Amino acid sequence: MRKWIVAGNWKMHNTVAESIALAKAIKDGASGSKGGIIVLAPPFTALFNVSEAIKGSNVFLAAQNMHYEDKGAFTGEISPGMLMDIGCAYVIIGHSERRKYFHEQDNEVNLKVKKALTAGLTPIMCVGETDEEREKGVTKDVVGRQVRQGLKGVEKIENVVIAYEPVWAIGTGKVATSAQAQEVHAFIRGILKEIYGSKVDDVHILYGGSVTQDNIGDLIAMEDIDGALVGGASLKADGFLGIIQNITGDK
Ligand code: PEP
Repeated sequence: MRKWIVAGNWKMHNTVAESIALAKAIKDGASGSKGGIIVLAPPFTALFNVSEAIKGSNVFLAAQNMHYEDKGAFTGEISPGMLMDIGCAYVIIGHSERRKYFHEQDNEVNLKVKKALTAGLTPIMCVGETDEEREKGVTKDVVGRQVRQGLKGVEKIENVVIAYEPVWAIGTGKVATSAQAQEVHAFIRGILKEIYGSKVDDVHILYGGSVTQDNIGDLIAMEDIDGALVGGASLKADGFLGIIQNITGDK
């Protein structure tokens, strides 16, 4: 049985003080919600303080990126061990903004996913097609390639979370319809089944792209949509808590 997961990606937003306040508001507001997993991904500078702020709660900490080496001369980078040290349980890997602006390729995503697993972190591996790719009708080619290459050599698929995030839906207000999202989620689960067999019934596949409290209900009702990776709507406690409430039915 899969639990729902709602993960907030704060991207390059929030000072330490703002991060603590937001994390506390979410922790308090979500304290009664059961049966799922809540994850917050603040910027690196606020990881330690948010880790302290959510201690003992049902909220987990994630980083937005990491390097695939344990240590060394990699100026500006953060290792998986450092993330574990600071209390992270999850790490977002291969977000489309990292692929677009920092030229991350599938092989680098694959190295990071494998290293996260070895270190004991749960990778949230992001995949998704651009507007142009969807228009050309190659969505499944692109997503299929990203899934297969990102997971090359990965054995413990049950410890990986996949986020399907159509790039055209990220930060645009253009959410995929629940049917469009379900089609790709089922396609992804089909690939996993082909590689890993029945173990994949436990793998979480999240949808990401302009998720709000108004559209989460339709998305989460779909068979293969197990939660959401949320950007913009995770920056305000009310909006983020509204998403959780509309999944759980808690009011
Ligand atoms: C994201 O950045 O992963 C994302 C889904 O952003 P937004 O919810 O703002 O579209």
